[in-house]
Amino acid sequence: MRITGIRAATVPLNIEMSNAAFSFRGMSTTIVAVLTDRVAEGRPVTGFAFNSTGRYACTATIEGRIAPRLMDAEPGDLLDPATGLVDPARAAAVMATGEKPGGDLERSMAIGTVEVALWDAVAKVRGQPLHHLLADAYGRPPPPDRMFCYVGGGWYRDGQTPADLCAEMDRYLDAGYRLVKTKVGGRPLDEDRRRVDALLAHLDGRAGLAVDANGALSPDRARTYAEAFRGLGLRWFEEPVHPLDYAATAEFGALYGDPVATGENLFSRQDLMNLQRFGGLRPHRDLIQTDVPQSYGYDATARAVRMLEAEGWSAASILPHGGNQMSLAAALGLGMGMCESYPDVFGVFSGYADGAALIDGCLPAPTAPGIGFERQARLYGLFRDLAN
Ligand code: MG
Repeated sequence: MRITGIRAATVPLNIEMSNAAFSFRGMSTTIVAVLTDRVAEGRPVTGFAFNSTGRYACTATIEGRIAPRLMDAEPGDLLDPATGLVDPARAAAVMATGEKPGGDLERSMAIGTVEVALWDAVAKVRGQPLHHLLADAYGRPPPPDRMFCYVGGGWYRDGQTPADLCAEMDRYLDAGYRLVKTKVGGRPLDEDRRRVDALLAHLDGRAGLAVDANGALSPDRARTYAEAFRGLGLRWFEEPVHPLDYAATAEFGALYGDPVATGENLFSRQDLMNLQRFGGLRPHRDLIQTDVPQSYGYDATARAVRMLEAEGWSAASILPHGGNQMSLAAALGLGMGMCESYPDVFGVFSGYADGAALIDGCLPAPTAPGIGFERQARLYGLFRDLAN
């Protein structure tokens, strides 16, 4: 198997909404197509990926140094000798050649997005849905045939009232979701508390509620939120403080007492190790989140899961960030607890296969080979145009 070309392009998200830390106005993502010399089901095999959401495009890094390293490598250096197919883990090591340790986000997203596209290509050559290939490759249990999904929603919008927020959540409940999340930390504490109180009263146990401060609270302000939001029965409180302030994370967790989730803004296994060493997280209560394409891809994610398991964590307490087919493959293949979903929020980069419907809060596992972008007509149109 040979890689015959790597293409990348920047796509604007065109979204008007905010969390406590930033607005998505002007946000972009990078789409990638990895062309190969293989044919499957009568078509040339091309692997696709995008760099998730919430971080800007990484096209220049891919084009400037990550893709050239792969294209300049000896083809044999990228292959699994047992199968003759590209080994994405070997390819990731080649893509990381010459990079200084630390400061991982400077290239983890560019490497991870290409790595994810390589897995898509290899799974298509093998005729397997990616989650089955991941489970085989990393010795995980056979994947389930469905995955529980929760909605990452409740963004701040101009003029929004608590009634608007409740109406948004009604749409998610009508679509079959049983766990929803809303933003906090972007308004004064009293207003945030009124939003959450309105939601809890409106949901009335029909669905669970989590909250997400997107790392925006100062340590002082986080203390007031820990006291104001503990004991409400929230499923979790996500990213209360800056993602790298492990002492403040630990202090928040101790004061809050209920489940805490964080990790989506850490981009290496070493950063996750530091979080688990110093962040005060409790394996049987808290959750660790990780974004696959933004943190070096599936191989790095699988190794992070193993590392955390060795520290007493269950894979079910590790969740992929991002509501898309890439995170769904990770959740299914690596035994994670649930997957995020963003119905209609991120345009073509939202959600799952066209027409896939939830049953009891769960999404059926994809059956098509690869990640399954081909079943998302509008998104696949972007990929197809890039590849042709
Ligand atoms: Mg979050």
